Amino acid sequence: MDKEDKIKIYENEKTIIRIKEDWCKSCGICIHFCPKKVLMKSETGYPMAKNIDDCIHCLLCELRCPDFAIQVEKKEKIFGHNINHKGLED
Ligand code: SF4
Ligand code: SF4
Repeated sequence: MDKEDKIKIYENEKTIIRIKEDWCKSCGICIHFCPKKVLMKSETGYPMAKNIDDCIHCLLCELRCPDFAIQVEKKEKIFGHNINHKGLED
C-alpha cells in the first residue's frame, strides 16, 4: 500500500485534521486531551475526527501526540477564498 493511503484526512470549511496512521500507535492521548471531544477511537483503533465542527484549533492533540501523527490546520478566509496555513487556496 502507498504511504499516502495511510494518512486519513478529515475536513470541513474551517479545519483540516490529518492522522498519519503509519506513525500512530493508537495510544489515545490525543483523544484524552481534546477539550471539545472532537476525536474518538475508530474501529481500527486509530483516532478519527468525529466532531470536526467542534474543533477550536487549540492544537493540544498535536502538541501531546508523542509520535507527531496528528496535525490540525485552521483554514483562513481571505477575500472570500479559503486559504490554508501554507498560504494556498483550497
Ligand atoms: S485542535 Fe484542539 S479541539 Fe481540535 S481536535 Fe485537536 S485538541 Fe481537539
Ligand atoms: S496521540 Fe498520536 S500516537 Fe497517540 S493515538 Fe493520537 S495520533 Fe496516535
